[in-house]
Amino acid sequence: MSRVALVTGGTRGIGAAISAALSEAGYTVVANYAGNDDAAAKFTEETGIKAYKWSVADYDGCAAGIAKIEEEIGPIDVLVNNAGITRDAPFHKMTREQWNEVIDTNLSGVFNMTHPLWTRMRDRKFGRIVNISSINGQKGQFAQANYSAAKAGDLGFTKALAQEGARANITVNAICPGYIATEMVMAVPEKVRESIIGQIPVGRLGEPSEIARAVVFLASDDAGFITGSTITANGGQYFV
Ligand code: NDP
Repeated sequence: MSRVALVTGGTRGIGAAISAALSEAGYTVVANYAGNDDAAAKFTEETGIKAYKWSVADYDGCAAGIAKIEEEIGPIDVLVNNAGITRDAPFHKMTREQWNEVIDTNLSGVFNMTHPLWTRMRDRKFGRIVNISSINGQKGQFAQANYSAAKAGDLGFTKALAQEGARANITVNAICPGYIATEMVMAVPEKVRESIIGQIPVGRLGEPSEIARAVVFLASDDAGFITGSTITANGGQYFV
């Protein structure tokens, strides 16, 4: 029986590429999404991958979604915490709502998804957890105090949990993508995009599939000795 992988925010952008790559690698993949039913329906039609709707910001919704998937599909072996949002503003203009929405989704969302699954993975003595952080969690970014704080928090969470999961054969790792050619990045004015590309030594944006392949590796048996790590995938823009 193939292993089951759950990808949050797995119906669009980087998440959709991760879902597709894991499916291609032989996993039974299920994707979660928040509210864009049309995109989810199109994704399922094109890939045959089932999509389940709940917000990762809602702990009870996450617990119920995980229980439903385990009942309908089987035990979840791989969790990819990919769902994320931005609510950018320079700090003097940032509202509490903008702060809270980003922390609730990008940081608490990772807790909300991992916590209900943790005991199940520990009992089964196997798990692969991959958290999609960001270059901006490593270096900080103007107008992203909320996003940078949440994504940096995801890295601390990854390192702490890696230590707790090790004896139960659960690995916990993170990937920090740089600028990736998703709808979000392609929607910015061409001039701004050109200036972003100018800051990337390889001279181009990353492709969602380039993040997806790193996830497939971290989920594999070959990566069993890698835990608490961060893969930096940013075209040479920033080193840690
Ligand atoms: P997209 O905006 O293209 O897709 C986001 C996905 O997350 C969608 O499927 C969306 O669902 C889902 N989502 C958003 N909020 C929630 C929620 N509360 N609960 C469940 N699902 C939710 O994002 P990207 O593909 O660009 O980004 C994916 C991840 O990669 C994010 O964590 C992002 O921070 C990170 N990242 C992206 C970079 C980039 O250049 N694109 C760079 C570095 C990091 P729905 O379709 O229903 O809205």
